[in-house]
Amino acid sequence: MEQHRLGGLDIVIGRWGSREYAKVSYPLRYGCFSEIVSPEIACQFNLNGELKFLQGRGRDWPHPAEWLKRSPGGDWIYYSGGEYREIFGLFGEYYVPRLSYRSNCIFRNDPFQDDRVNSALQAWGPLCEGLTDLLPSAGTGPLRDFVESVCEHDPAALARRARRLHALLGGRLSVLPPDTRHVDYDVIPVVVADGCLYHCTFCAVKSARAFRPRSRDDIQAQIEGLRELYARDVANYNSLFLGCHDALAAGGEKIAFAAARAHEVLEMGASYMKGARLFLFGSVDSLLSSGEDVFEAIRRLPFYTHINVGLESADSETLEALGKPVSAGRVARAFERMLEINRSYPNIEVSANFVCGMRLPPGHLPSVVSLAGERLNRQAEKGALYLSPLLDGTPLQASEKRKLLQAFREVKMRIRMPVYLYLIQRL
Ligand code: SF4
Repeated sequence: MEQHRLGGLDIVIGRWGSREYAKVSYPLRYGCFSEIVSPEIACQFNLNGELKFLQGRGRDWPHPAEWLKRSPGGDWIYYSGGEYREIFGLFGEYYVPRLSYRSNCIFRNDPFQDDRVNSALQAWGPLCEGLTDLLPSAGTGPLRDFVESVCEHDPAALARRARRLHALLGGRLSVLPPDTRHVDYDVIPVVVADGCLYHCTFCAVKSARAFRPRSRDDIQAQIEGLRELYARDVANYNSLFLGCHDALAAGGEKIAFAAARAHEVLEMGASYMKGARLFLFGSVDSLLSSGEDVFEAIRRLPFYTHINVGLESADSETLEALGKPVSAGRVARAFERMLEINRSYPNIEVSANFVCGMRLPPGHLPSVVSLAGERLNRQAEKGALYLSPLLDGTPLQASEKRKLLQAFREVKMRIRMPVYLYLIQRL
């Protein structure tokens, strides 16, 4: 680690953060990063010199334990704190991710409308411009290399890199699995299949495309492009997301090929971060039609694998209202299969999503409680249930939010498995 002072800026190069992701109630940084602190903002950069974290300084900033994170897809996420025990009970983390785009957040106050947050965001561009003027004073060696790499990744360059990521994948990924919270959403994405099996009418993240697995050549080309794009910062990644909406339906062979190639080419075995993880979505039909050979193939991969399955409801009337073309009986069988896989494969963990909302048929939440409650007579050792708020585009009124949280707590108290809210996050 090196410390420098340059033109009124404090610069630290090569700082080592934690090697393991953890659930802690204070800001914890992961991997290797560098830092520039000006009187207005503190910025942290990845190994390519791309801005990743930003925090305002001084008394004006909303809270010392709150900060902004920039995703490789170019979005800002505000990590909001609050009453820690309550937040952990709702989300399984000690923060609420507040997004700079429309999602299914149930909270009305928006940090991106807050002048203090916007001032911090706006301070980054001028800081970057000022750094260019300071280059002649940076001498030679690591300080100059670092300052140069930050100047190369000004706001326009970062936007171009985000567009390049989306072009490589064939489009923006509209949703990440909720389990990616376990690695602070730090996943490298590879698309193994487009579209999904159902095109449910309620879904705001679906693609118009019919379900279609990508070819091996396409997957290989993505991985090579990603290796080039993530460049030196691959050392900070050990987690992979196989997209998009139902990678499990692409089959064990395609999953194993993509995961093994990515692990090798992206050098995940040599990552600074410990414990490689693989994330993917599944569906009722892909889960029920995947035989033991598929899970054996996944088990043999050098990852701990999280599969998230969208069940949505166990009530026929609700499934119909959601426009989800599966029967309540198949949802129940898929839930059973999820428990079976969690018991049988030590390095595979399946979680399930259900919707929640005020305008759903009255049988919906009781059906979830009855399904999960009846089949779990002791605390599940693995897996989780996520309740995804279903909003119609308008923010919840205070009374609606209160009722939704009350319903959530009732479900949580009656199911012997972790239950959390799922706020949809894209990449
Ligand atoms: S909920 Fe899943 S299966 Fe249904 S449309 Fe959305 S992505 Fe497709």
